[in-house]
Amino acid sequence: MALIVHKYGGTSMGSTDRIKNVAKRVAKWHDAGYQIVVVPSAMSGETNRIIGLAKEISAQPDPRELDMIASTGEQVSVGLLAIALQAIGKQAVSYAGWQVAIKTDSAHTKARISSIDDAKVKRDLDAGKIVIITGFQGVDESGDITTLGRGGSDTSAVAVAAALKAKECLIYTDVDGVYTTDPRVVSDARRLNTVTFEEMLEMASLGSKVLQIRSVEFAGNYKMPTRVLSSLTDPLMPLEEEIKSGTLISFEEDTNMEQATITGIAFNRDEAKITVFGVPDRPGIAYQILGPVADANIEVDMIIQNQSVEGKTDFTFTVPRVEYAQAMQVLSNDVQANIKATGIIGDTKVSKVSVVGVGMRSHVGIASQMFRTLSEEGINIQMISTSEIKISVLIDEKYMELAVRALHKAFGLENS
Ligand code: ADP
Ligand code: ASP
Ligand code: MG
Repeated sequence: MALIVHKYGGTSMGSTDRIKNVAKRVAKWHDAGYQIVVVPSAMSGETNRIIGLAKEISAQPDPRELDMIASTGEQVSVGLLAIALQAIGKQAVSYAGWQVAIKTDSAHTKARISSIDDAKVKRDLDAGKIVIITGFQGVDESGDITTLGRGGSDTSAVAVAAALKAKECLIYTDVDGVYTTDPRVVSDARRLNTVTFEEMLEMASLGSKVLQIRSVEFAGNYKMPTRVLSSLTDPLMPLEEEIKSGTLISFEEDTNMEQATITGIAFNRDEAKITVFGVPDRPGIAYQILGPVADANIEVDMIIQNQSVEGKTDFTFTVPRVEYAQAMQVLSNDVQANIKATGIIGDTKVSKVSVVGVGMRSHVGIASQMFRTLSEEGINIQMISTSEIKISVLIDEKYMELAVRALHKAFGLENS
């Protein structure tokens, strides 16, 4: 019997009525003969609310304790969904991550899944039960609860689907697929029927929060067919229609795919820029600056080093905004005096805007069109980075939405 994993996000689980609708949809799939594992998120707003409580008490709460708190939202969701399914006559059982067990490393608040034990779940499925597993959480070697980073339920779902060798992983959310850009920012953004795995990986890593990046990595590593679709449609809509709706992440660039030069525009408001200036320009300096930042488990994104003048240079890079304070602390405590830099300055009011598309490989002039569009809007570019299929710029955050709209139009991505 084919197994399908469903993932429902916060809005989809946002009220008891919505949870009853999820139960109806899941029951419909089960009645059609599929084995079903459901991975829900916490009810919308709940994770923010409980993390907020911890932050009311301490500006920098202990990450282990934060995970203890943050993981509880999902535990409420799985229990409520099991009750909703039982109320309509289905056998259902809920599990927390540690009960399955979903094992992770110990990087609290951004843990990575290392293994998933499928025995218990398979036994329940074979006994005809619908199995509901908390998204977002796991357990480390020492038995402590961990969480997978914000938006991590997507990753739990795809990882569970891979571990159980599911036929497909369906990510139900509050939009009906992946769009050319966030439809909340550009109202005439267009839904894509398919998006290549590579493009989805770039879009997710560049800030399109419709899927957490690690979920896309899992989908790629295990070639797990993954589809993004709406949970806000009629839960009893015909299955054949539902199976084909939304956006499929495709692993092939087939000729039928929408062939545009640019597939989408991504943006990220969560970046911060740090400049270490007056840095002696000598071998090993990049390592001396970024080594301690990496040791603090802070991911560095864009990096530039200027031409040196009289043996001194400036070194600029970006880090996640939530880790900006910690990165500044590491640099002023461990780095500045050590390398004899003149100073460190930072800016948290920056955003990254990126154009993404595999079509870029065979087209020239994309960068110049991007820069021309931004210049016509009077938007200053602070940093640039490129890969084979994307160009990113760092700009003042107050022009972020303007830049996204202008680029969306300039590359002809709107709904016609
Ligand atoms: P969930 O709670 O279901 O996980 P998220 O809020 O994490 O939902 O992700 C869905 C949201 O992602 C959408 O409501 C939309 O605003 C946003 N989003 C950002 N970029 C895109 C995109 N390119 N296509 C679709 N949605 C996007
Ligand atoms: N509840 C978690 C969050 O808000 C995980 C998720 O929704 O995917 O980040
Ligand atoms: Mg999400």
